[in-house]
Amino acid sequence: MRRIIAKTLKRFGLLDFDLLSKAVDSFPGAGQVASGDLVHVVDGGIEKWACLLCPGGCGAAIPLSLNKQRRPRWTVRFDWFQRPSIEPSVHQLNACGCHFWVRGGRIEWCKDGMPPGMVDGLPTRPGSPR
Ligand SMILES: [Zn+2]
Repeated sequence: MRRIIAKTLKRFGLLDFDLLSKAVDSFPGAGQVASGDLVHVVDGGIEKWACLLCPGGCGAAIPLSLNKQRRPRWTVRFDWFQRPSIEPSVHQLNACGCHFWVRGGRIEWCKDGMPPGMVDGLPTRPGSPR
């Protein structure tokens, strides 16, 4: 429900985000992470994973471990609209090499963190109009 409200507000330009959380109870299979979703895997009340598609456009699904027993691990928080904030930053080690933060549902690129193929005007660039 909150996702619907958030998406409606975004359509009217009243709310801004690149990602909204979607809670599931098992790890998403291939092709089950949609663009714009942060898939939050919570199994038996325990946070397991946060999965998102690479914002650099390579199409890779990025699984972030939320398991407190493992390294590396990330922490994800959500606001009322289910917009995620993730700590620490996400650094892709594949060819795309993206390095970014997720704050308030927005992708915020680190300096030199945007892949070379991306140019001005793409919607994930910080500060650009949508
Ligand atoms: Zn990528």
